[in-house]
Amino acid sequence: MNNPPPVTEKVPELWFTDADVVLQAGAKLFRVHRSILSARSTIFGDMFAIPHPGRGKGVNVVTKDDSYTYICLPDDAIDVHRFFLAIFDASYFESPPSVHPTAVTISILHLAEKYDVIFLKRRAVAHLNVLLPTKWDDMWKLVNTGYNLGFFTLLELAVAIDIPWVLPAVNFLLMPASLDSILALSPWKSFAPLIQQKYIIDRENCISKMALHSGWIWRPLPPASCLSVAICTLAQGLIRDLGIWRLLRTLPEIFCEECVKAINAECYASGEQFWDHLPEIIDLGSWEALVDAKDSYSN
Ligand SMILES: [Zn+2]
Repeated sequence: MNNPPPVTEKVPELWFTDADVVLQAGAKLFRVHRSILSARSTIFGDMFAIPHPGRGKGVNVVTKDDSYTYICLPDDAIDVHRFFLAIFDASYFESPPSVHPTAVTISILHLAEKYDVIFLKRRAVAHLNVLLPTKWDDMWKLVNTGYNLGFFTLLELAVAIDIPWVLPAVNFLLMPASLDSILALSPWKSFAPLIQQKYIIDRENCISKMALHSGWIWRPLPPASCLSVAICTLAQGLIRDLGIWRLLRTLPEIFCEECVKAINAECYASGEQFWDHLPEIIDLGSWEALVDAKDSYSN
C-alpha cells in the first residue's frame, strides 16, 4: 500500500500572496520572494537560476503554473520555519544582546551554513559566543544554571563552520549526561562516523582527566563547621556514586549550608584546573589560539 500524501499547511506569517516561489519542508509550505532569497543566499540564487524544471542540489523543481515555482526542500520543517523568519522578519532574530532559545539559534546556524547566508551565520555565531564561554568564571556560572543538551549538534556543526572555540564548553556541558541519553539524541545517528568516534574518545579523555582533578571527593568531606555531620557524610556517598557535576545544582538539597560552600569551592577549583587543559584534551590546541580565532572571527 502506498502511504497517503502528507497533509500540508501554509505558514501564515511566511505566505506572501504576491511572492513567486513556494517552498515545502515537511508538511509546511512557505510562499516567499525569490529575489530576496537570492540576494541573501548564493545557493538559493543558483537554485532559482536553473532555467528549466529538473532535479538538482537535493531539491525537486517543478513549474506548477505561471505565478510561482514550487520547490521541495529536504530540510526539517521547524528549522526552515525559523530560518525563513530570520530572513523575512527583521525583528525575529536580532543580534545580541537580544536573547533567543538555543534551538532557534542552532536551527538558523545550521541552515545559514547550508544555504550560505553569511549575515545570519555571523549573527548566530555571535549568539553562541555569548552562550558558550571561553573563560572559566563564565562557564562556572553556566554549569550552575543548568546543563543544556541543545548544543549537542555543534559537535559536528562547529567543525563544519570552523568555530572551534565553542567546543570546549559543548564538551563540558555534555560530560555529566549519561552516554545512553547522548546516543539517544536524534542528531547522533546523522553524525559522520569520524565525528561520532571523536566524541566518544574525547568524552573518555575528559572524564578521566576530570577524575584526576577531583581527588578531593575521596577525602573525608564534612568540614569542622559542618552543621549535620551524619547526614552530610552519608550524602558524600552520593557524589562519589553519581558524580559531583551531575549533582552540582542540587547540593543545597542534600548538604548543609557549610558543606555546600566547601564543596562549591572544591568544584570551582578542580573545574578550573580541568578547564585550563580542556582544549588540549580534545585536540584543539591552546586557549590562547582559540580565543585569538574567536576574536578574529568577530572583528
Ligand atoms: Zn555539612
